[in-house]
Amino acid sequence: MSAPLLELDRVVRRFDTPGGTVRALDGVSLQVRRGETLGLVGESGCGKSTVARVALRLLGVQQGRVLFGGEDVTGRAGAALHDVRARLQMVFQDPYASLNPRVTVGRALEEPLLVHRRAGPAERREQAAWALERVGLRADMAGRYPHEFSGGQRQRIGIARALMLRPELIVCDEAVSALDLSVRAQVINLLLDLQREFGVSYLFISHDLSVVRHVSDRVAVMYLGQVVESGGRDALWHRPLHPYTRALIAAAPVARPSARGQRPPRALLAGDPPSPLDPPAGCRFHPRCPQAGERCRQEAPALREAGGGQWVACHFA
Ligand code: SF4
Repeated sequence: MSAPLLELDRVVRRFDTPGGTVRALDGVSLQVRRGETLGLVGESGCGKSTVARVALRLLGVQQGRVLFGGEDVTGRAGAALHDVRARLQMVFQDPYASLNPRVTVGRALEEPLLVHRRAGPAERREQAAWALERVGLRADMAGRYPHEFSGGQRQRIGIARALMLRPELIVCDEAVSALDLSVRAQVINLLLDLQREFGVSYLFISHDLSVVRHVSDRVAVMYLGQVVESGGRDALWHRPLHPYTRALIAAAPVARPSARGQRPPRALLAGDPPSPLDPPAGCRFHPRCPQAGERCRQEAPALREAGGGQWVACHFA
């Protein structure tokens, strides 16, 4: 099998804060294969956005490796990192915050080509017009400013900008979370169309399991800085092995009431996640786990293969 497009291998990322050291990522391993969507799900504060920034090499790591296209890019800097960055792009939750209000949308779209010295002025304009049309906007909108667009249109502009360098991987960090339901569906369909057309891979990060289920080929579930389960989307949905995954699925809204019966038995999640400054000993999920036993308080479970491409970190799965 060919090397994954993106791989995080036992990555540790700590942050020193006035309150102590936060281990935002504590041995995270995951892979995104070419042309697939890996959904990354978990409650807020579990480390999902840190994964995005590490994947894009906006943040370094203290331990572990980041591989892109089979090459170790963990220690890359300068021109070598610049080349990798052209192959990886990001779509943010709030496209307005990532667009300069004083720069026209056309210029914002041309900027990645300028930074990476990919094209002359005429070709840059042509490419910007192409990208606008490809995401369902009009080429003549290039002269407008970000405030002249709706939230959904701005997210389309964010996607157009990510497309400009024809990346191999796009990291979508809560990219549809701020949109209302009908616009969200349109933007998701656009992302899926672009994947079919260009073969781009997505690392799709969201706290919303129903959205992740809709877009992903495989899913990784994070809890307090660690991946606790991963596997194929349908396997994970129909046969979740980790009590945390079961609780997340039970809590996810159901679009069709008839689909309720397809879910595993309800196991609601109690309480908030513990502080990442002082994670519980043993299994980090044990204070909230309905199945926790003595062993769970003493010993951290390793992520192990559970058959059918599923991996789980639980002593009793
Ligand atoms: Fe629950 Fe124990 Fe499994 Fe952790 S190891 S998820 S506490 S049963």
